[in-house]
Amino acid sequence: MNISNFPSFRLDGKVALVTGGSKGIGLAMACALGINGAKVIISSRKADELQKVVEEMNNQGLDFSWIQADVTNKEQVDNMVNEIIEHHGQLDILVNNAGMNIRKPLVEVEESDWDKVLNTNLKGIFLVGQAAAKQMIKQKNGKIINISSILGGIGMPSQTSYAASKGGINQLTKVWASELSPYNIHVNAVAPAYIKTPMTATWLQDEQRYKEIVGNTMVNRIGDQEDLAGPIVFLASGASNYVTGQVLHVDGGWTAK
Ligand code: NAP
Repeated sequence: MNISNFPSFRLDGKVALVTGGSKGIGLAMACALGINGAKVIISSRKADELQKVVEEMNNQGLDFSWIQADVTNKEQVDNMVNEIIEHHGQLDILVNNAGMNIRKPLVEVEESDWDKVLNTNLKGIFLVGQAAAKQMIKQKNGKIINISSILGGIGMPSQTSYAASKGGINQLTKVWASELSPYNIHVNAVAPAYIKTPMTATWLQDEQRYKEIVGNTMVNRIGDQEDLAGPIVFLASGASNYVTGQVLHVDGGWTAK
């Protein structure tokens, strides 16, 4: 066996964009990419938060920069990707992560709730994915990782808009994988169960709910943000070059039960 043919998990020389990278899962995945050698651009809607995080990460030796953009706005998304190409000349990895949730029982969901969640979680993923794919097609190289959820595949109360958006992401992932594979672009999704982040902080305060969620896993705990590090580096690196169109569940065994 010739070990020089083995792919590396390292990301040196790669340029990665992480949307929603200012906090939570996005920031954790951005750090994992940075620790493994990538230049990382994080984006969100709040310049002050982005600036603070970039400073903090650069002080720890990572190569971070930021761009402010709302993923629901096509002009801002296109400008963001163009700016990355102007500054770095390439975009190798997209972590399509920005997302939000409004949890309400079906009969209480307002039309505006549905629009907000679907615009951010599904239209946003489409807009950023499309802009990145245009560049990756030119490069004939790329890794797109869409952040889904276990709710893209299972049902749970009060998740009408969110689950619809995440189910949509799983399908987009498969369609894009089939369409982009001739250009050496791999497209996969990561579907976490509950992870401790600002998005879930209030939801997880309910002791009964917390216990139920832990009980649904095989590993008997809620996920930590660092639990996303291995899966994201794998899917961003050459180590996953024969993996495309997949939804990787990072859920402590929840959906395998
Ligand atoms: P979070 O802590 O609330 O962070 C969300 C990030 O997305 C922030 O950086 C936020 O920044 C950004 N964002 C939201 N709307 C945006 C918009 N319109 N344009 C640009 N950026 C926007 O959430 P999280 O828990 O880390 O979740 C991140 C992703 O993981 C989401 O897609 C979520 O559905 C998914 N996920 C999370 C869990 C979990 O348990 N936490 C489980 C499964 C899947 P600004 O608000 O400042 O723009």
